[in-house]
Formats: sequence, C-alpha cells, structure tokens
Amino acid sequence: MTEPTHATGDAAARAEILIWQRGYRIGLAVAVAGSALLLRALHVVSADSVGARRFGVTEAALWFAAVTAAYILLTTAIYWHLQRRRAASRAVLWTQLVTDVFVVHACALLLTPPGQYDRTLILSMFLVQFTQLYFGWRATLMELGAVAISYTTIVTLANSAHMIGAPSEQLWTFALFCLGSLAYAWLLGHQGVRMRHLTELFEKAREGDFGEPYEDGRDRFPDYITQIGRAYNNLRGHLETIILTDPLSGCFNRRGFEQMTNREISRGIRAKWRVAMLALDVDHFKQINDDFGHLTGDEAIKEIGAVIRETARAGDVVARTGGEEFSVLAPDTDEEGAMHLAGRIMHAFRTRSFVSLRGQLAITISIGVASDDAWMDDVVRVLTARADEALYAAKRSGRDQAVLWKTGLRAFDASGGRLSREIERLP
Ligand code: GH3
Ligand code: MG
Ligand code: MG
Repeated sequence: MTEPTHATGDAAARAEILIWQRGYRIGLAVAVAGSALLLRALHVVSADSVGARRFGVTEAALWFAAVTAAYILLTTAIYWHLQRRRAASRAVLWTQLVTDVFVVHACALLLTPPGQYDRTLILSMFLVQFTQLYFGWRATLMELGAVAISYTTIVTLANSAHMIGAPSEQLWTFALFCLGSLAYAWLLGHQGVRMRHLTELFEKAREGDFGEPYEDGRDRFPDYITQIGRAYNNLRGHLETIILTDPLSGCFNRRGFEQMTNREISRGIRAKWRVAMLALDVDHFKQINDDFGHLTGDEAIKEIGAVIRETARAGDVVARTGGEEFSVLAPDTDEEGAMHLAGRIMHAFRTRSFVSLRGQLAITISIGVASDDAWMDDVVRVLTARADEALYAAKRSGRDQAVLWKTGLRAFDASGGRLSREIERLP
C-alpha cells in the first residue's frame, strides 16, 4: 500500500508535519493532565488507580506530572532537532509516536481506575487515525503495535494488583478497538490514494494535458471524492477547449498543437507512419488590414481558420501558430498526400468568397510542405523547420503556391537569394 505523498520516504515532509503538530501535542498534554488532576481534586472522577495503590494518591499524581513534563521536554527536543535539520528520520518519527502512546497509557496506569481503561483506547483511536492521515500505513501499524504492548502491559499490571475482575473482557475491548482502527485506517488510506490520483489529474490539467478522465465507474462505493472526480470530468472538456484552442480562429493554439502533435507522433511511431507538416501563411495580409481595418482582419482570420479546418481531414491537426500563420500536422501522410492536401487548401481559398471582406478581395495562401518518418529523431522540430523553409521558398517564388521541401532546397540562399532549381511546387 502506498503512503501519502507528503510522507512518502520524504524526511522533509515528515519534519514539516511534526513541527506544526508540536503545539497540539503540548497543548493536549497540558489540557489532559490539567483536567485529569482537577477532576480528581474535585472528586468528580475516582482517585483509585494502579499507581495510587502502589505509590499513594498524591505520589501517583506527582509521577503523572513528571511523566507529562518529560513528554513535553522530549517533544520540544524533537522540535528543536527538526527545526535545525528540517528532516525527520523514521526513527525520530517513531520515537515521537511511541511516546504519544506511552504517555496516554502512563496516564491510565497512574490516574485511572482499571475499569475505565477503555478511555485509553478511545484516545489511541484518535492517535492511530491521525497517524494514518499524516504518515501512512507503516507508521500506523507500528503505532498499533505500540498500543497493543502498552495496553497489554497496563492490563497485566492491573490484573497482578487484583484490580481487574475479568482481564479477558479488557482484551476483547482491545480486539474491537483494533478492528475498528484498522477498518477506518484502511478507509483513510484508500481515500488518500484516490485523492492523490485526482491531484495528479489536476496537475496534468495544469500542464494542458486533459487526456485522462477520472474513472468514476471504478468507485464501488461512490463518495465525496467520486463527486469531485465527476466535477473534474464535467470541467475537463470545457477547460480543454479554453486552454488548447485559439479563440479567434477556432483552431488549436501553440500549446494544443504541441500536445496533439506529440500524441499523433507517438501513434505514428507505433504504426510506422510517415507524417507531414504544412506551414501556411496568408499572402499580403497587411493589405487586408490596411484596406479594411484590423477588426475586419480579425474576422478574416476567423474565416481563414474555418476554411483550413473544413478542408483538412478529420484526423489532421490544424493550429494557428502565429498572427496569420497556420500549421497542419497530417498523420499517416507522405509527400504526395501532403501536396494533395496543400492543393485542396489553396483551391478552397481561391474559390471562396470571404464574407468578412464582402467578397471585395480574394485571399490566397502560400504553403510549405514536408514529410518524413514519424520515428525520425526530433521529427516535429525538423519537419517544422523544413516546412518553414519550403514556405519561404513559396513566398519567394510568387506566393499562392505550395512548395515541397526536398534535400538541397535552399530557401535562404545568401549568395544572390536564388532558389534551388529542383523545387517542387503546386501552382
Ligand atoms: P506575405 O505573408 O505575403 O509576405 O505578406 P503579409 O502582409 O501577410 O506579411 P506577413 O505575413 O509578414 O505579416 C502578417 C501581417 O498580418 C502582420 C500583421 O499586420 C497582420 N496580423 C498578424 N496577426 C494579426 C491578427 O491577429 N489580426 C489582424 N487583424 N492582423 C494580424
Ligand atoms: Mg506571416
Ligand atoms: Mg502573410
């Protein structure tokens, strides 16, 4: 079984928890000791105890005060140690937990009539559940062991002082305590595992990965965590749209493109596909802004995004990667298929009358195309660079065309800026 994240082999996390718990430990010890002594002094509770019979009533109370003081001293020493080290080894943690158990049972031995030893089990129940909540299973089982030893010891001592009629009754109570503690600790541990799974889902979502839903069908006994999981699932689709989509064009944004591309490349590697990348840039877009204004330019970008999405295949990933620049990743597509897709997109632009421009101006687009094996090293970066290079070649060759990247294509030719001869393009 796994332990809570904040405690998993993590000495720093253990120290942090023990440090903040120190105030509660000391506060509780003072409160319990104070009220026990007060209630006894007022004769509200019995002064009869194993300690009182052995040492006398006042001496037993003094012993108890000494035990409480020693507990407070030890807790404070551990606190100072942790403040300096900022890390709690398992030994330090267990020392603290065993001391908690010990002080509860010492209290019973010195102040409580053996008939009321159930009280120690009530307190131990709280200790065990808190330990499960904050430190996980291993510490919980260790603490249950400490309770078993301490409880058996006080029952045995009370029995040898002839203060218990039927010790087997006490042991039966203890068996019930163990059953209840373990059942509840199991429940807490199980909930911890599910909560951590949910946290992981939220953390993935923060990175923009909404791939995995919370599987509420697996919860045999639906509870509040199931409700949170379902709420996450409802939100998931909505968040995915917001985070991965460009609101203007309705295409994926850069983050969405990156994520979808990685997913497609992984599939492509498994299926041994070729993948194609298309880099698209609208021709003379500045002119649209100049002639019609920026707002109309934005409207045009909206329509342009829709045209590309409608023309691409269902499995293609279409993204707006810049102002009026788009990218398309086409899975399972070789050079020929990619050029065919580019041709369809250009055709769609040539034949479309753009509503935003009231049909007064035609829009054309230049496309750079590259395709290679999905399992090629660094395939996305390489294909993006090649598609960009081919796009640049398309622009320099007069726009409104698609150019396929080939080895030797030199779009950025420093000597005179001429393009390679063996350029393959679609008019
Ligand atoms: P070409 O690509 O054919 O070389 O010419 P171009 O005029 O399209 O030039 P370029 O691609 O370099 O510049 C794109 C221009 O598009 C620059 C900017 O004015 C405009 N633009 C970029 N993003 C947006 C946007 O979100 N809205 C609007 N209205 N205009 C944008
Ligand atoms: Mg541009
Ligand atoms: Mg442009």
